[in-house]
Amino acid sequence: MAETKKNSKISRLKIAPTIVPRNNHIISRTQISDNALKVLYRLKNAKYKAYLVGGAVRDILLGIKPKDFDVVTDAKPEQIRELFRNCRLIGRRFRLAHIQFGREIIEVSTFRTSHHISDDNDGHERDGRIIRDNVYGDIDDDVWRRDFTINALFYNINDFSVIDYVGGIKDLEAGQLRLIGDPTKRYIEDPVRMLRAIRFASKFDLKMHSSAEEPIKENSHLLENIPSGRLYEEILKLFLNGNAYKTLIELRRYNLFEYLFPQTNQVLTQNERGYAHEFIKHALKNTDQRVKEGQTVNPGFLLAAILWGPIRIMIEEYSSNGHSDIEATRLAGDTIISKQISSTSIPRRFTHMARDIWVLQARLKRIKRKSLRILAHPRFRAAYDFLLLRAQSGECMEELIEYWTKEQLKEPHAGKNKMKTRRDRNSSKRFNRNSRTKDL
Ligand code: ATP
Ligand code: MG
Repeated sequence: MAETKKNSKISRLKIAPTIVPRNNHIISRTQISDNALKVLYRLKNAKYKAYLVGGAVRDILLGIKPKDFDVVTDAKPEQIRELFRNCRLIGRRFRLAHIQFGREIIEVSTFRTSHHISDDNDGHERDGRIIRDNVYGDIDDDVWRRDFTINALFYNINDFSVIDYVGGIKDLEAGQLRLIGDPTKRYIEDPVRMLRAIRFASKFDLKMHSSAEEPIKENSHLLENIPSGRLYEEILKLFLNGNAYKTLIELRRYNLFEYLFPQTNQVLTQNERGYAHEFIKHALKNTDQRVKEGQTVNPGFLLAAILWGPIRIMIEEYSSNGHSDIEATRLAGDTIISKQISSTSIPRRFTHMARDIWVLQARLKRIKRKSLRILAHPRFRAAYDFLLLRAQSGECMEELIEYWTKEQLKEPHAGKNKMKTRRDRNSSKRFNRNSRTKDL
């Protein structure tokens, strides 16, 4: 009986896709990286199915240059490894292949089934979260495990068509973000999808479909159960994609920000028009500008800025208890960071950078004393930029800004050469390589 019910449900989902032939869409091979093409062709030549999928197809259709390329195939991980010498299998719950070409990694996954379509509880915890996700399938199984319709389009290297099972192309044309399947269930299965919804809506200026939007507020608390490391990866994607300020507003509107930065959220909520709000607005807009100009943004600087609201209040508290400015800043920094890392982990190199920037704020107050030593500090430039943001946000510090601007003009290389320590350089390389969230 159960068998028949399950079969009938699955056969209902064996629907025919819309196939958009090569001449009716704008994806051309010139927009796909040579390495991704190499992977697709090698799989095809070995008689496997191979598709470009996910963000890259979506981005090209939106006229945006993709930042990375994901491939999906019917070849099993071991079969993929046999084809590529530069291949590493990763992932415990689900094996994926990473094919490495210099700094570019092409992620190749094997078609797999989703659980949200089945009637039994296999693979789910009692609360609906996915715990097991390792059953191989075909393209028409794989499509249902994906999150949004616009992320479930397949570009077929065999005939260059785009395969659409879920109305993703129509949604892209209509500028609409829609989940595949029942939105509440899909958010419960993986609450990070709520953050992804906000990210895609903000980044691509899409309107969330009401069914995608409505369940978010009542399920936002589910983020509490997400490992802090995964949330850290998500905050980088949320705030380093060139739309950080808009993303902040949306995250707050849907009660999600409080699970990422509870202390900052509290300060913002206490006074919606206050200094903390002005500061974070300037900091995030400045970050967006840098991203758009192709400049780097150090996550340590970003975190220092997002946490500045609560830090500043705590520094005042410690100072009023008799601590010196520098001591008060160190103590406040320790307290705020140790609370923050219970929500989102932060690699130590970035908490160090944030602390340095905060402590330098106190040191920069002391005009004319030890200024040369401060100019040589590897974080001077970051701390000076931070000081400028504070001034732009309404803190009265004209004299200080004037002084340090003049001082650093006398020393044009202040902080700059030493700004990136070897550890920073290595870590930013590592960040670029490893910053990809494993999909579910
Ligand atoms: P971007 O790379 O721009 O962040 P993306 O859509 O490519 O966006 P990835 O995290 O690279 O996102 O994932 C690739 C694809 O895997 C997605 O397009 C989607 O189809 C699927 N995916 C990723 N994360 C999830 C998830 N949490 N739930 C369901 N499907 C997911
Ligand atoms: Mg991607």
